[in-house]
Amino acid sequence: MVSLEKFYSYTEVFYEDESLKGRFQPLLDDVIKRLPDKPPFPVIGIFLIASRALVIEHLKGLDPRKKAQLDVTPESRDGHCFTGINENGDINEYHISIITDFLEPKSDDYIKGLIIHEISHMIYVWRLLQKKKSDYAKLGRKAKQIRFNQIGQTDNIPETKEYYEKEGSVNAEAVRLGFGKEIRALEEEFANIK
Ligand SMILES: [Zn+2]
Repeated sequence: MVSLEKFYSYTEVFYEDESLKGRFQPLLDDVIKRLPDKPPFPVIGIFLIASRALVIEHLKGLDPRKKAQLDVTPESRDGHCFTGINENGDINEYHISIITDFLEPKSDDYIKGLIIHEISHMIYVWRLLQKKKSDYAKLGRKAKQIRFNQIGQTDNIPETKEYYEKEGSVNAEAVRLGFGKEIRALEEEFANIK
């Protein structure tokens, strides 16, 4: 299990509105405490807890192709994870955005489900990278970097078959980490919206 002190020595959390901290921070802490203390951790993480408008601005800066924003454009989507990968196939850092516009009436389990879902996106990418590193060993630097970046890309178009398949794999990762109850709360909410 990861100690909070250790985790926050390589992770930063930004709140657009500090009044959100009272509710959100203990839920985030609870998720962090239950994470395994093994790779991909420690890895630099940045959490942004903010309105959809600010998150879209943040994602424009991270992803010049602007495809990451697609994931937060539908109003039902209130989280996003961007994973940065270097030429060795290691994760440099990840950025998780949690959109607060409609978060207040949601249950604690839903919010924790959302947090672990987004963290699981990064872990899912890390797992794929472990598999692919040996396949790409013989490639040149540039070719390797292109392929590694493709693994980290978040340009699945929302509501397509590929999108749901990836989301399912990410949720399975979160369940493996012991967050079955929280993922159920997240999925129930999506079922209500549809
Ligand atoms: Zn997702």
